[in-house]
Amino acid sequence: MPEYEFRCLDCKRVVSLHLTIVEYESAAPTCPHCGGAHLRRKIGRVRMARSEESRLETLSDPSSWGDVDENDPQSMARMMRHMSQETGEEMGPEFDEAVDRMEAGESPDEVESSIPGLGGDEEDDF
Ligand SMILES: [Zn+2]
Repeated sequence: MPEYEFRCLDCKRVVSLHLTIVEYESAAPTCPHCGGAHLRRKIGRVRMARSEESRLETLSDPSSWGDVDENDPQSMARMMRHMSQETGEEMGPEFDEAVDRMEAGESPDEVESSIPGLGGDEEDDF
């Protein structure tokens, strides 16, 4: 079942809903947080509809990441979160921990060396 992402215009939260095509087209989805019916579909976020190719294009276009300063852990953390959202992949607890620590101001090198199993496979290595 495809997952659709909406932004709730009432509580401003991002809402992920699993809907069938029929549900999506016929029903007005409501926000699970506040019950509001003003959900705006987020463009380009249907994970199952996105091909591998366009996904890689997005990843290889640095301008889509915003400003990334390699020397700024918080900037890096932001980019990593963005990447994770773009790929729609569950990156695992190590990834989350790394991002959290970088957001807290630790250097990427420090974080990487202290978390075993981080950044191991070649898909992440670009
Ligand atoms: Zn809401």
